[in-house]
Amino acid sequence: MLRLAIQKSGRLSDDSLNLIRECGISFINSSLKLKTACTNFPLEILFLRDDDIPGYVADGVADIGIVGQNVLVEEGKQELTVEALGFSKCRLSLAVPKSADYNSISDLNGKNIATSYPNLLQAFLDEQGVQAHIHTISGSVEIAPSIGLAEAICDIVSSGSTLISNGLKEVERVFKSEAVLIANQELPQEKREILEKLLFRVHAVQRARK
Ligand code: ATP
Ligand code: ZN
Repeated sequence: MLRLAIQKSGRLSDDSLNLIRECGISFINSSLKLKTACTNFPLEILFLRDDDIPGYVADGVADIGIVGQNVLVEEGKQELTVEALGFSKCRLSLAVPKSADYNSISDLNGKNIATSYPNLLQAFLDEQGVQAHIHTISGSVEIAPSIGLAEAICDIVSSGSTLISNGLKEVERVFKSEAVLIANQELPQEKREILEKLLFRVHAVQRARK
């Protein structure tokens, strides 16, 4: 039996479950349960917070998982990547108030930037030769400028409408992300074989979607 960790409830959940279903794998999905065994494939699904998925897979509590690259790389666990899945595409971007006079990345020198992704942001600022103060907050990042916590934010964007409704404009793209399948690096042979079977089906689903 292979254990798959997916997000319990959030932007990855529906597409993750749909992928498994389209692979012809059946399970009973009750919103109250934290795990469910599939009925026609040797797979057990664990429902977790997305941030916990890389750690659980690295530790072997789950064998495989589906998570956004933004979370995976932020947690320094990119070596677990098996392959990109093509959904939950988004980007991590820097944004400043609409009215701010912004010409280039060097305008951020000495500024305060609020984000939930301090490692990805620090790597980008280092690469750009910018020194700024990073304030790590866990949510509602987009309100930080209006409450005076920061002059800029670094947050996940897909359409950009959340930025606009908070009076912000996107000024730099920091990281491009999509959902990825990850796996523990020391899977026993028996689990590896189940993973191969699952991947075979995933590839068929992806070909059919094109
Ligand atoms: P959890 O409660 O599990 O911690 P969360 O609030 O941290 O959930 P979500 O907002 O559900 O996370 O986002 C999960 C992942 O989906 C993100 O890490 C990112 O990879 C992707 N994502 C986030 N926002 C979008 C978006 N607007 N469009 C597409 N994908 C997104
Ligand atoms: Zn999360």
